[in-house]
Amino acid sequence: MQMKICLGGYVLLLAMATQIRPQSPPASFPKTLIEDLVLANHILDNEGMLDGYGHVSVRSPTNPSHYFLARAGAPALVTLADITEYDLDSIAVSGSAVTGYIERFIHGEIYKRRPDVMAVVHCHCSEVIPFADTSVPLRPMHHMGNFIGAGVPVFEIRKAGGETDMLIRTPALGRALAETLEGKSAVLMRGHGATIVAPSLHLVVGRAYYLNLNARLQLQAIQLGGKVTYLDSEESKKAATDYERSWDAWKSKVIRK
Ligand code: MN
Repeated sequence: MQMKICLGGYVLLLAMATQIRPQSPPASFPKTLIEDLVLANHILDNEGMLDGYGHVSVRSPTNPSHYFLARAGAPALVTLADITEYDLDSIAVSGSAVTGYIERFIHGEIYKRRPDVMAVVHCHCSEVIPFADTSVPLRPMHHMGNFIGAGVPVFEIRKAGGETDMLIRTPALGRALAETLEGKSAVLMRGHGATIVAPSLHLVVGRAYYLNLNARLQLQAIQLGGKVTYLDSEESKKAATDYERSWDAWKSKVIRK
């Protein structure tokens, strides 16, 4: 008897869970872009920029006051049904936002301040941490990291919020981060990670990858002990790339899995 009640309860819970979590995003969502956003989550995980944490978003092409971001969860497991539409105050307007990422204000506040930004990655990519935690600035090591030539500022959360748990939990902290980023493509976050922006989803994934790689190469070059020659500002400007071939390669790896 007790067993039957338990089983009945389980079936009911399962039915409720199915109702709460739809299997596909609302029909109004731009399908190709949302599929690319899911793919971006998987690529960033597969290439080691995101682990269980970190997130990637894209601005709505039809409504610049909205953006799309997965609900809270590991990027490797993100599906179409997890994608949620937010306004720039990072309040969910539709989709499956049962639980949003705590740090979603990173995205909303950057989109508010930077009309040129169409995509944002927030990562805890480990190679950048030495440059976030010391006075050594990240500098462009190679042509694929050319965007670093414009400078990569470091966000000091104590200046904005005093003693915190290091997370961007409020719109005010998001605004402070967006102000530190200013006109640049990436900002390092002391004791935390980095946030990268770009005018497209493919570009932001490429920049996240090459930011992390550049940090690794720079640390290796410094450790060699000789003089390090970085790209100069003219080379950095001329070496602009769209990372499209990298995107194709990364995509083929996650699709083969
Ligand atoms: Mn974080």
